Amino acid sequence: FVGALLIAAKVARGVSRKRKQDEIMEEYRKGLAVPLEQALQVRDGMITQMEIGLRETGSKQGLLMLPSYIDILPTGAERGDFFAIDLGGTNLRVAYVKLGSEKGSTESSSIREWLIPEECYDTDNGRLLDWVAERTIEFAQEHGRLKRDSPPPTIGFCFSFAVDQTAMDNGKLLLWTKIPVILNDTVSTLIARRYSEPDTALGIILGTGTNCAYLERIDRIPKPPSDYRGRSSEMIINSEWGDFKGACLPALPEDLWVDCSSVNPGHGGFEKMISGLYMGEVSRRLVLRLAEHGLLFGSEVPPGLTVHDPLASPLVAAIVGDGSPNLALTASSLASAFGITKSSLDQRRKVKEVCLLVTRRGARLCAAGIAAVLKHTGRGCGGADQPAKRTVIAVDGSVFKKFAKFRELLRAALEEFCGADAAQVELKLQEDGSVFGGAYIAAAASSWTSRASS
Ligand code: BGC
Ligand code: MG
Repeated sequence: FVGALLIAAKVARGVSRKRKQDEIMEEYRKGLAVPLEQALQVRDGMITQMEIGLRETGSKQGLLMLPSYIDILPTGAERGDFFAIDLGGTNLRVAYVKLGSEKGSTESSSIREWLIPEECYDTDNGRLLDWVAERTIEFAQEHGRLKRDSPPPTIGFCFSFAVDQTAMDNGKLLLWTKIPVILNDTVSTLIARRYSEPDTALGIILGTGTNCAYLERIDRIPKPPSDYRGRSSEMIINSEWGDFKGACLPALPEDLWVDCSSVNPGHGGFEKMISGLYMGEVSRRLVLRLAEHGLLFGSEVPPGLTVHDPLASPLVAAIVGDGSPNLALTASSLASAFGITKSSLDQRRKVKEVCLLVTRRGARLCAAGIAAVLKHTGRGCGGADQPAKRTVIAVDGSVFKKFAKFRELLRAALEEFCGADAAQVELKLQEDGSVFGGAYIAAAASSWTSRASS
């Protein structure tokens, strides 16, 4: 009788564990779903914050909406050869581009990449820029472009951080003469596509971080200083959309944890739900909650699961894309990230579902952001009274490039949010956009200058 009672108690515990597990999974499914109605709130909230940001500088209610001062764009008719520097968080890339004689064509190009040495991380001592200059000189010499008596090469400088610019060749974070253009990576990505595709109006980075730049009508930007003399009716704005925040964002308690343990707590709320730096960490936290309740890996929490950040986004991509019947990729990802070397199929299924929910949330929020920019600029996704214009969106970054499921979910969400207008929108991978855009805009800037002075 006692034995039967013990068995009954054990069964009851098992049943209640299952119920609790279902309850938490249901919370995740609901909390991360971003249904259409919520996506439209995000879209409209984003538009409001864009408008505030365009109007006011430094308002906490608005996005940064940094003017790039890039109000000329390459037309494809530029000629000559140009260099570009792309300084990211961990790498330096330098590119050389020789433009072709056919419109929008490139005759040859090459690119080199270096890891930024640690001693250059301290940006106060000037070592970083010296080192960047040394590498650039080396590279230019290799291309036979640093000769006595010949004019110095024209360089575009792409900087993957928020720079408060005061002119096309001047920014608060950086000041480097002889460089005709300083630009954010999203701006650069837009330009890189625009050289060969005139319908390009947005540039997006979906990688370690996320951000979007787009073409704005200058009469809608009251911010530029009064001595700014525009060269056209449009300018590229760097929205810094990663900073979008609001109650409409689908946050779970785990998002708060991720935010608190990040390098910029309280900032980048949107970015922390979308970009590669955070998707794995959010997923880990969600799996950890299940484990802490004793609902996934037995009564003990696997120690590897409590460590900050081991689930890099390529592993999330591997898990989410795992189509093998026994989820072998998920098993190996659990082993390499958390040291969980034994897992059941059911455990792997739960982990995969959590990662997929986080991925889908990211993709849907990104689509809502795109819909916001399209609607704001009158290019579509704003209802029947706004005819959609064909719009090419240049996208660069590891998440877009390497995460097939993210791409697929992003496209599906855009179709859901924009309806028939989505047919006018093309998301195109712009590989190495952030570096090549610098060269194309250097070309556009120098052909503008020579036109203006002749
Ligand atoms: C930065 C942006 C950048 C984006 C993509 C964000 O964290 O704030 O300036 O464009 O990452 O690299
Ligand atoms: Mg980059």
